[in-house]
Amino acid sequence: MSKKIQSIRGMNDLLPSESALWQYLEQTVANVVGRYGYQEIRFPIVEQTELFKRSIGEVTDIVEKEMYTFADRNDESITLRPEGTACCVRACLQHGLLDNQQVQRLWYSGPMFRYEKPQKGRLRQFHQIGVESFGMASADIDAEMIILTARLWQQLGVSDALTLQLNSIGSLAARAAYKDALVTYLNAHIEQLDEDSVKRLTTNPLRILDSKSPETQALLNDAPSLVDYLDEESKAHFAELTALLDVAGVAYTLNPRLVRGLDYYSKTVFEWVTDKLGAQGTVCAGGRYDGLVEQLGGKPVAGIGFAMGIERLCLLLEATAAIPASINAAPDVYVVVAGDKAKLAAVALAEQLRSELPNLKLVTHCGGGSFKSQFKKADKSGAAIALVIGDDEAEQALVNVKWLRADKEQQTLAQSAVAALLSAELL
Ligand code: ATP
Ligand code: MG
Repeated sequence: MSKKIQSIRGMNDLLPSESALWQYLEQTVANVVGRYGYQEIRFPIVEQTELFKRSIGEVTDIVEKEMYTFADRNDESITLRPEGTACCVRACLQHGLLDNQQVQRLWYSGPMFRYEKPQKGRLRQFHQIGVESFGMASADIDAEMIILTARLWQQLGVSDALTLQLNSIGSLAARAAYKDALVTYLNAHIEQLDEDSVKRLTTNPLRILDSKSPETQALLNDAPSLVDYLDEESKAHFAELTALLDVAGVAYTLNPRLVRGLDYYSKTVFEWVTDKLGAQGTVCAGGRYDGLVEQLGGKPVAGIGFAMGIERLCLLLEATAAIPASINAAPDVYVVVAGDKAKLAAVALAEQLRSELPNLKLVTHCGGGSFKSQFKKADKSGAAIALVIGDDEAEQALVNVKWLRADKEQQTLAQSAVAALLSAELL
């Protein structure tokens, strides 16, 4: 036998036993964002490498070490998208969606690729649903986006497991001033810094704020705080945002050390985190990126967005037992059929039932076999009812109804009466 080929490490198959949960999640998100007026946009999985270098920033983890970048057959450098925001902005600019101060409310969903160390909640191909809005510079849209995520958690039954971490990272100028102060402070204590942070001191010092090293975190307790460097506009923006969250009843924790991995953020940044998933506790993250559109060649347009990780959300639904029983892949009915006439009758009856009862999930046995083996399959399918047709039933336009789970008498009735029975009993 030849050797079996395996999937690429960190890139998972989604098996039939898991897909119903994904569909439920995706449909719930699409429904909630749709109720706020967001429309779906789809863009390719590969883009020119330059797009991500220019938007995410050269000295970020993603661009430095996580991108899947290849030369295509024409020797152009292309990259499997590591995130969706840059692609979304690229698509909007390319198609004029941001011209003439248009406002856009958009969402997207799909696989993202990052060369990371695979572990629970951290994959190399993972899936995000992202939401972006453009053309609105005021804090009302920041609030709207956060409020809609809160509604989503409520809808999914995971509100209690999530807390909102909130911060403002101010304007570019404010951040530059703060960076200087932070670097001066940390340079004076460089011997207490972890190795990664020492590197970041020259490349991307703000990222030191979310270092995982306890020593570095301890050192940061006495470091200058970003809050003290915020510009007046960012302060007012943040005050308006928190006031709006207050009236909407969305609780938040101020986290002055919350910075985002990507370069393009400004003002508002936020993360929804849980303590139920170990180290991979951030389920949804985002922020404002007013400079990004210009950075990618457009006229300046305000933007804000976030993305949630579908795998982490699924893990959270499992961890909190928030998976509704109704997302059951089992059919309602399994048709058991033996005999030549019966086969014809079964197909006709099945199609008639599917026409009459659009919500009915009905599996017709295919592939032959004895009644006994078919009943085993019917039972295994999880169906509530088996409809049994042999040649005798077929000749008399009858069908035998057998309950596979409930303790009820089987009955034989006219085929024309089955739809009414199924509708009354199951739907
Ligand atoms: P982390 O700090 O966990 O690496 P990040 O800041 O790199 O996350 P973002 O780029 O903000 O993540 O992506 C938004 C969300 O996408 C994350 O909050 C997470 O839920 C999910 N996500 C990011 N990277 C991965 C991954 N490698 N595997 C699974 N989910 C991921
Ligand atoms: Mg990351």
